[in-house]
Amino acid sequence: MIQLKKKKQEREHEDFGRVMFYCKHCNKTFDMEWETIWDMQEMTHGYVGYHLYDTYICCPDCGELAEALEQPGPNPI
Ligand SMILES: [Zn+2]
Repeated sequence: MIQLKKKKQEREHEDFGRVMFYCKHCNKTFDMEWETIWDMQEMTHGYVGYHLYDTYICCPDCGELAEALEQPGPNPI
């Protein structure tokens, strides 16, 4: 009998999702949850949203500024 394993995908999509970032310095990618980003935005400017143009994400390894690999966002503003 063949057992089909269920993918865990549901779990990952159950909250707000993540953004991928790339660090030139370490030549690696990492991801960050929107919830974490929003925490930072709230501390920096007091408002949050699905945007990254005024949010600076640093590489967890070297502390250099990392680039977002994607600009997701249901609302453009
Ligand atoms: Zn780095």
